[in-house]
Amino acid sequence: MTDDPPIALAVHGGAGVIEAMAPVQRQAIHAALEQALDAGAAVLERGGAALDAVQAAVVALEEAPWFNAGYGAVYTARGEHELDAALMEGHTRRAGAVAGVRTVRNPVRLARAVMDHSPHVLLAGQGAEQFADTQPAIARVDNAWFDTPSRLAQLHRAQAEAGEGASAAGRYFGTVGAVALDRQGHLAAATSTGGMTNKRWGRVGDSPLIGAGTWADQRVAVSATGWGEAFIRCAAAHDIAARVAHGGASLGEAAEAVVFGTLPALGGDGGVIAVDAQGRLALLFNTGGMYRGWIDRDGRRGTAIFDA
Ligand code: ASP
Repeated sequence: MTDDPPIALAVHGGAGVIEAMAPVQRQAIHAALEQALDAGAAVLERGGAALDAVQAAVVALEEAPWFNAGYGAVYTARGEHELDAALMEGHTRRAGAVAGVRTVRNPVRLARAVMDHSPHVLLAGQGAEQFADTQPAIARVDNAWFDTPSRLAQLHRAQAEAGEGASAAGRYFGTVGAVALDRQGHLAAATSTGGMTNKRWGRVGDSPLIGAGTWADQRVAVSATGWGEAFIRCAAAHDIAARVAHGGASLGEAAEAVVFGTLPALGGDGGVIAVDAQGRLALLFNTGGMYRGWIDRDGRRGTAIFDA
């Protein structure tokens, strides 16, 4: 151990009903979570910014086929992909987000570009795509590049069960996110998603909405996953921050109150990862599982899928 100020990092790859999987798939998911931890930790350990760490971790998860973000994103009801992402830096309250993008390989990078190179926080649809055209560093792909056979099978199952246009609430989550504390004591959060399987085109979830699925201030950083409509209706990520800022709650108490109280009261299921300025972590979910990984302030590291 050194006397350096602590760093802390948590990542998630979504919460929900996690279907039975082969051991080889389970290993691949753990490995992908480890890779995301490595990517974020590399930034934090060299004294880099929490904002850069969460972006690096989320890019790693967007590139992994196992999660519902970037490659491997779910399908809309009309068989395409529309991606949402956001990130936020706590001490500056700078934030960037995109919604409904279709050709951006790493939506979290475009969210960062919105933060850094536009006067806006959230760009959506065609406008976001046109903004991406002005950013040479943003890699572009055909919409079909995001296709995976397993997500297509999920769409077909959801459509058979629910009828076209109805969302498969409570199932098929897999959004990704990261929260971090850096050596300067700064916090950041990032979230990226394909949304919900069989969503109506144009539907925007909680992930790119600052305060709903993503939030960071000087006290806490939060990234959420679950049935987005419920997270939006209770401003879940900001509710956790407000309970800490104004209610005197610890991070753990605040996250518990929202994940096990407010959200289920609205019929919402899912989970959150969060970190406070002391590097304390909260990784909580009210579903059968949540893909997650962490490096705590004492350097202890782990990944998990179901309840510990
Ligand atoms: N929260 C995301 C959404 O509603 C879905 C997820 O977490 O997987 O768009």
